[in-house]
Amino acid sequence: MASKTGAASVVLIPGDGIGPEITDAVLEVLDAAGAGIRWVPCKAGLAALEDGGDVLPESTIEAIEHHRVALKGPCTTPVGEGFASVNVQLRKHFDLYAAVRPVRSLPGVPTRFENVDLIIIRENTEGLYSGVENEVVPGVVMSMKVATERGCERIAHWAFRFATQRERQKITVFHKANIMKMTDGLFLRASDHAHKREYPNIDYETAIIDAGCMRLVQNPSQFDILLLENLYGDVVSDLCAGLVGGLGVVPGANFGEDAAIFEAVHGSAPDIAGKNVANPLALLMSAVMMLNHLAEERTEFGAVAERIKRAYDQALNDGEKTRDLGGSLNTDQFAKAVIDRL
Ligand code: ATP
Repeated sequence: MASKTGAASVVLIPGDGIGPEITDAVLEVLDAAGAGIRWVPCKAGLAALEDGGDVLPESTIEAIEHHRVALKGPCTTPVGEGFASVNVQLRKHFDLYAAVRPVRSLPGVPTRFENVDLIIIRENTEGLYSGVENEVVPGVVMSMKVATERGCERIAHWAFRFATQRERQKITVFHKANIMKMTDGLFLRASDHAHKREYPNIDYETAIIDAGCMRLVQNPSQFDILLLENLYGDVVSDLCAGLVGGLGVVPGANFGEDAAIFEAVHGSAPDIAGKNVANPLALLMSAVMMLNHLAEERTEFGAVAERIKRAYDQALNDGEKTRDLGGSLNTDQFAKAVIDRL
């Protein structure tokens, strides 16, 4: 975290797949912008396993406990078998219950809709990510969806407080409380209460998630902040990424009371790893969110964040884009295009 003087210390986890190459690109930009970060490199995921350690080494946990802020590349999550997701383990360990994912239209990235400006707030620790799965009898397996009053109330309050601080107009809760009357019902009631009792000035609506998704792809501008439980937040984040150019352009932050971890919404993209073609922008935008977080204690980080944001907006506007956005730049070439515009 930022001390009052000198460089701020931030844990750096490059991650797996495209993680190391996009991390290198982001570090180059932050360095060129004079961000003044003292990086504390740590391992997690496959990279840590290959090093002979645990997927989430104790030394990485201790470093985050100490420094309280981390920038993290994606960690590969095996499908169907193998170790539990490192991303989920970190969110649970540090109780990072609020995930924030801003989704906005970018200059020079034409998509079906213009002026998309959404913020997704995802409850990050409960729901079907409880990790409680078992075989009831051979051939019958189950996964437990968990919602707690404490968990639902704190994310509802967090979302309304965030909306108030950021001067956003409206919160829409997506739910399926018509079917999951207890779990989604609790989530919905907690949001209703927070609105009625403490934040009546923020516009508020609720939508059953299936209908809500249809409305999202018809006209995303009707929404402002979306508040969702864990799994819905995961799915809708990727859907919304598709509205503004894809996974290469949506950043994220995970907040708890004692730590914050900044990471892109996308995964480790093994299909393009090691080819120097991945878009580093989502991680760079996550780093900008991190600088704005550090700016809460040291305002100078806010100016650096703004410079970097202006530089990548300008690069995109000038047609400097990676392949996922229809351009031809490699990962490092895009970083250079941003640096040239700082
Ligand atoms: P994981 O198992 O880590 O979740 P994945 O490949 O299943 O990895 P993502 O990493 O989210 O899931 O990738 C989904 C698709 O989007 C892939 O085809 C990938 O190449 C593409 N993609 C994801 N991130 C980027 C990026 N930063 N730049 C370019 N393409 C990306």
